Amino acid sequence: MNHNVMDRLHDLLAQLTLVQADILLESLLECAAKEQPAYADFLLEVLTTEKEFRTARIMQTRTRMASLPYAKTLAQFDFLFQPSIDERQIKELQTLRFISESGNVILLGPPGVGKTHIAVGLVMEAIRGGFGAYFITANDLVNDLGKAAREGKLDQRMRQYTRPKVLIVDEVGYLPLDPIGATIFFQLVSARYERGSIILTSNKSYTDWGAVFGDQTIAAAILDRLLHHSTTINIRGESYRLKERKRAGLFAAVPPASMEASPKRNVTLQEASADATA
Ligand code: ADP
Ligand code: MG
Repeated sequence: MNHNVMDRLHDLLAQLTLVQADILLESLLECAAKEQPAYADFLLEVLTTEKEFRTARIMQTRTRMASLPYAKTLAQFDFLFQPSIDERQIKELQTLRFISESGNVILLGPPGVGKTHIAVGLVMEAIRGGFGAYFITANDLVNDLGKAAREGKLDQRMRQYTRPKVLIVDEVGYLPLDPIGATIFFQLVSARYERGSIILTSNKSYTDWGAVFGDQTIAAAILDRLLHHSTTINIRGESYRLKERKRAGLFAAVPPASMEASPKRNVTLQEASADATA
């Protein structure tokens, strides 16, 4: 290959910020020399390589900016373990229509049943679908906005939480809010109302929200806006964490040497492995 042409190609790709094509130029040309694709197919290959790289990079940046606690997908969720969840409802949410309509999703249930996992899974779909997202716990949110209010910067800081198309507010209700916290929360829900989606998780049912916000009226006002365009997913069931601990406990409790000797313990093991494949 003519060095002069290669240098000019690299220069042009760099100037046009076709980063990946620039990096892979030699190997793309080598492949083409071997496989002799049609001109149009070769061009398609180069541009597709660049496009896929960019999409992956945008995904990475958006995921980082979303500050998710962990990166779990809905495909990793075991729906058989949690039959109180209607999988069709989750499939509908996966279409991301609720985001286009600025609707909300509220996941209710006791600890460990998968509320945060589903919220994170939905957000990862949203990011893939081109939406910006931000994850924060209710406690951190209220602390952060409370601090901004004391410094006279509430409006400015509020934008951080109104800008992303999807905001996840995790763990509403684990800690009760003081009156200022409740007012700030109300302001945020109002500011996002019909403009962006909130995915909220809570261990408290709606009837307990008066106690969470320390005031029935403000709780009702928050719920009124939150529930207007919304899907509630009520998860009733066992904690997945507990199940994993229980299973670990079963295996750990049996000393390896005595496993075969004791028929009683064998039954326990069979039960355990039956549970594992359930
Ligand atoms: P919480 O309801 O308290 O928010 P999480 O969603 O954080 O619970 O779930 C606790 C842990 O158990 C997480 O690691 C999550 O990925 C996992 N988990 C919960 N439910 C399931 C499930 N049905 N299938 C797979 N993993 C699950
Ligand atoms: Mg959680």
